[in-house]
Amino acid sequence: MPIYEYRCPDCADFDLVFEMRSVPDLVSCPTCACTARRRMSAPGISTASSAAFRLIDDTKRSAHEPAVVNSPAPGRRSGPAQKYTLNPLHKKLPRP
Ligand SMILES: [Zn+2]
Repeated sequence: MPIYEYRCPDCADFDLVFEMRSVPDLVSCPTCACTARRRMSAPGISTASSAAFRLIDDTKRSAHEPAVVNSPAPGRRSGPAQKYTLNPLHKKLPRP
């Protein structure tokens, strides 16, 4: 069920859950029992896929719980260091 925001003129905003067919425009504030009006707000709709959410969750988790690495990342070769650039024009640049 969707969450609706209400604003009490005397207190802070609060959220309530109603069925879409029975959402009232006015409710009583749970804190002061004053009449609160429904607020219009942006819906919490996301177009991100589950893969995007998984990536976000993994990124957040890795900030606190870094994964243990047992081998180099795939695609990297062990051995001599690779050149930074393969562009032959970069060889003409002045060296420090
Ligand atoms: Zn109130």
